[in-house]
Amino acid sequence: MDALKDILLKDGRVAEIAAPGKLKSANGAEVLDATGLTVAPGLVDIHVHLREPGQGYKETIATGTAAAAAGGFTSVAAMPNTKPVNDSPEITRWMQAPNAARLCVSFHRRRYARFKSDALNDYAALKSAGAVAVSDDGLPILKDSVMRETLAAAARVGLSVIQHAEDTRMTHGAGWTEA
Ligand SMILES: [Zn+2]
Repeated sequence: MDALKDILLKDGRVAEIAAPGKLKSANGAEVLDATGLTVAPGLVDIHVHLREPGQGYKETIATGTAAAAAGGFTSVAAMPNTKPVNDSPEITRWMQAPNAARLCVSFHRRRYARFKSDALNDYAALKSAGAVAVSDDGLPILKDSVMRETLAAAARVGLSVIQHAEDTRMTHGAGWTEA
């Protein structure tokens, strides 16, 4: 809908949408002037770095989600390259504690920093803990077979895959390096 309308909010939800000045049940309601603004459903950002646990000096879950909310984002998917890396149901649950991130992404495989293992995490357990996706953010999957296995395993449990689309064998650090 792209039009000028009045909107009645009741208990935090949209109760009625009508032409300007035509709301019937708005008697006594508080009026918010949204002239020049766009009213939209809560936006979703599927790639944010909240930096907790471990790097709260850069960003905390509280400050990151407050900034998101100020910009109209009501859901954010926190990337897993935290310290420790979010590759477990325990950290996934911790990140979703009250006032924390609503959506959480877990890393696709067990070892992140040392790159020693291509073994996938337990995606079913991560999903049960609240993860909405798995990602290789910051450390791209370079083996076709691992990506194939990742996509298949994620599909089996209904998780999305958020890919870091970079081949570091070609970029040689020319892009950015995520700390
Ligand atoms: Zn990122």
